[in-house]
Amino acid sequence: MPIALPRAMRRQPSELGRVSEEGPDELAERARKLLTGRVEFLLSAPQLKFLPEPDAPEIAFAGRSNVGKSSLLNALTGRKSLARASVTPGRTQELNFFDVGEPLALRLVDMPGYGFAKAPVKVVERWKMLVRDFLRGRAVLKRALVLIDSRHGPKDVDREMMKMLDEAAVGYRLVLTKADKIKASDLAAVTAATAAEARLHVAAFPEVSVTSSEKGMGIAELRAAVLADAES
Ligand code: GDP
Repeated sequence: MPIALPRAMRRQPSELGRVSEEGPDELAERARKLLTGRVEFLLSAPQLKFLPEPDAPEIAFAGRSNVGKSSLLNALTGRKSLARASVTPGRTQELNFFDVGEPLALRLVDMPGYGFAKAPVKVVERWKMLVRDFLRGRAVLKRALVLIDSRHGPKDVDREMMKMLDEAAVGYRLVLTKADKIKASDLAAVTAATAAEARLHVAAFPEVSVTSSEKGMGIAELRAAVLADAES
């Protein structure tokens, strides 16, 4: 079956005009102000019927548990404990929504982490159903970020996530996390391997984002990408 172009890649000419009017520095500054300004936890959705109204563009964050997703959300929003505040132990299988901007400009969606080695089959199946249905049915979902640990590179569970996004025609960026934990030469190698992986996937962006929440590396660039994606 042919796979549709990710919806965010089907831009209208008028939208392209808007993006090109603004330089990269202005976009980065607007993104910094927005993402470090008002960001509030909205709700956790354990099932699709609890999703918020689709009244703002959404950017979803996915990754294996322990990949550094909470740390990245905190770094992007300039906070110490944004993501943690809402994620109590029983809530790890829920989609967590955060409102950004006053007035509301976009929503960040913290997707449940995957790849627990000992997760019961039932939990994994429930996760798959929730995530797949969300990805397929969410018209306001502009982009997903798939986080990959720099020390490990893409694993089969990440490929499975990427395949779900390909099939749902949701465009996504691959984001390496914890880049400060490895040597520059190893980082170059894992970045190349991740870019090669991206080329195998129809909905993946070709460029790989390299980040360290600990050192602030790549955070300004990723903020700008998140804003540009939300406005695409
Ligand atoms: P999550 O389970 O994906 O939300 O992962 P966390 O954000 O809780 O991070 C998992 C572990 O990795 C924690 O011990 C973090 O302190 C650590 N970590 C996350 N990001 C970075 C980073 O950029 N650099 C380093 N050195 N450690 C990180």
